[in-house]
Amino acid sequence: MKNIVIVGAGYAGVLTAKKLAKRLKKQENVQITVIDKNPFHTMYTELHEVAAHRVDEDSIKISLERVFAGRNVHVVLDTVTSIDFDGKVLEGRVGTYPYDYLILATGSKPTFFGVPGAEEISYTLWSYDDAVVLREHLLHVFRRAARETDPAERRRLLTFYVVGAGFTGVEMAGELAELVPLLCEKFEIDRDEVSMFDVDVLDRTVPILPKKLSDKVERRLTKMGVQVMLGTGVAGIGKDYIELKQGDTVECHQAGTVIWTAGIESSDIVSEAAKALQTARRGRVVTDKYLRAVDHEDVFIAGDNIMYVPEGEENPVPQMVENCEQSADTIAHNLTVQLTGQGELEDYRPKFHGVMVSVGGRYGVAQVGT
Ligand SMILES: Cc1cc2nc3c(=O)[nH]c(=O)nc-3n(C[C@H](O)[C@H](O)[C@H](O)COP(=O)(O)OP(=O)(O)OC[C@H]3O[C@@H](n4cnc5c(N)ncnc54)[C@H](O)[C@@H]3O)c2cc1C
Repeated sequence: MKNIVIVGAGYAGVLTAKKLAKRLKKQENVQITVIDKNPFHTMYTELHEVAAHRVDEDSIKISLERVFAGRNVHVVLDTVTSIDFDGKVLEGRVGTYPYDYLILATGSKPTFFGVPGAEEISYTLWSYDDAVVLREHLLHVFRRAARETDPAERRRLLTFYVVGAGFTGVEMAGELAELVPLLCEKFEIDRDEVSMFDVDVLDRTVPILPKKLSDKVERRLTKMGVQVMLGTGVAGIGKDYIELKQGDTVECHQAGTVIWTAGIESSDIVSEAAKALQTARRGRVVTDKYLRAVDHEDVFIAGDNIMYVPEGEENPVPQMVENCEQSADTIAHNLTVQLTGQGELEDYRPKFHGVMVSVGGRYGVAQVGT
């Protein structure tokens, strides 16, 4: 029996498992196992909509048992804590899993760049739990503000900072701007008492977009009441304040809520695996053109965890859903070739169709084609 183990049931892990199950349908001596720390797949691309009460929290989770019903895929609920690449075995919190082929698809987690207080105090947006915690906090903070009689404290409670004006930050700020008038009405708070900021050290929003579209995003956020502060770093975050840095000047501002969307790095298990694998750029695993970890032909890397610059390109593949979909195809093909000894390995040559960023539920900008 050959064991194929996939760690992570995000976009990349789920798609790779489905494609492999289809290709290997007739191979009776193959077991495909998907391990995830949650019993469900999370649609990360909609986390901001949950956080800002636009969609129901259950609408972004899909049961893994249901996803793989009727397929030769065994689902395991566990958190993988270490990998022995020589012994070919994974250690989880509840079990041990030997493998013949391993696919790492554990995605990313927020990174805080050593900013004091950022990890401990700010709210993040990179898991189902993060989105639900933020959703409840936003309601709670308006509830508290409504019965606060000290005007300064009331103003502080109603001051929101989103740190990061990339993809996630802009989408979060846009959703927040649409939620605020609804909460003001619900809790009978004057809209003018609420302040919203989106802060970024770079000089424009969503740098993956052309400048013209970045400017459109900035204008839209401003129109929605978000003060966009570019060229502004964060020097520290405390229980009730944020320190902003412009040039050499650091100023402390009162803040009720800070949402941290300033950057990501590889998940914990990939950082742990980095002791044995080659990694680059915030812990992504360097792969060969077949998406295998360098020097480990039995370990494939999928989705956000990949660090690979396709032939003829200057930049590594983007950490986006299209990269998950297309890496799943290549891995399913190449692993099948290695396992069966039939066919030729194929290079990873992804084609990306563009980028779309929503700023609230009614406005978005898109760059079609790359
Ligand atoms: C708010 C937001 C909006 C976004 N919008 C877009 C968008 O519009 N378009 C776009 O293309 N991309 C978007 N992205 C990025 C996109 O979501 C990611 O590129 C994508 O989720 C990466 O997929 P993945 O399968 O590599 O990892 P993930 O989706 O992160 O999945 C990783 C899985 O691994 C599991 N896991 C992690 N560690 C372990 C462990 N040790 N043991 C077991 N399981 C583990 C996790 O539970 C998770 O299920 C957005 C992201 C966010 C947060």
